[in-house]
Amino acid sequence: MPRNRSASPEASPRIFRSEEELAALPASERIRYRLVQAERRYHANDNISAFVRDGELGELKAEVQARMQAVLEALVIDTVSDHNTNETAKRVAKMYIEEVFRGRYVPIPAVTEFPNISRLNELMIVGPITVRSACSHHMCPIFGKVWIGILPNEHSNLIGLSKYARIADWIMSRPQIQEEAVTMLANELQERVRPDGLALVMEADHFCMHWRGVKDTESAMVNSVMRGAFLKDANLRREFLSLLSRKSTS
Ligand SMILES: [Zn+2]
Repeated sequence: MPRNRSASPEASPRIFRSEEELAALPASERIRYRLVQAERRYHANDNISAFVRDGELGELKAEVQARMQAVLEALVIDTVSDHNTNETAKRVAKMYIEEVFRGRYVPIPAVTEFPNISRLNELMIVGPITVRSACSHHMCPIFGKVWIGILPNEHSNLIGLSKYARIADWIMSRPQIQEEAVTMLANELQERVRPDGLALVMEADHFCMHWRGVKDTESAMVNSVMRGAFLKDANLRREFLSLLSRKSTS
């Protein structure tokens, strides 16, 4: 039964299915089948856009809506008489697929890279970039800021300033863990820009700490990634961190 399969997808990874059989399955199972066949990971913060075909996001949204409706029913909320919750399942499904988790389902935004013609080799700082995400433990919001330090060389590809924010948004718009999010963003920038040094600092507020659990109101978490020249050169690292603290207080 499809229901069992979705509960334990790993249990039957390599059963061959014809296109016809696949078409009869819900979109989520079709997409999962393709991922498993390709031996691709599909954790909460993975982008799976290459496995989603035209029209399937609409189908996914309908599936999420139906299951969200079941969650509301399990919470014993009368979504028929309570006009506030009539359309909640639909709104939440749209929010997940099209907004807050969109970075899982769509390819990376188009980014034009241009060669470093003027051979810039000075420390460049981008930020603070406002980032919004959700923790994959509780699906609670994460709000924060990211600073990016780049030390280009003559072979680096430069990208427009606004593109850093678009790439960050694409990576953060998934259920995330802050440590993994900064590493993912660093990998993406490393690959595109190919700088001599790359530094990233993310400071964020985790709402699962405010809304539930310890209800700590002062719980910003800071993570950083330092690569290349930023690892080797303490002065460069210091310069980046001092510019960053000056920026954040202004
Ligand atoms: Zn959490």
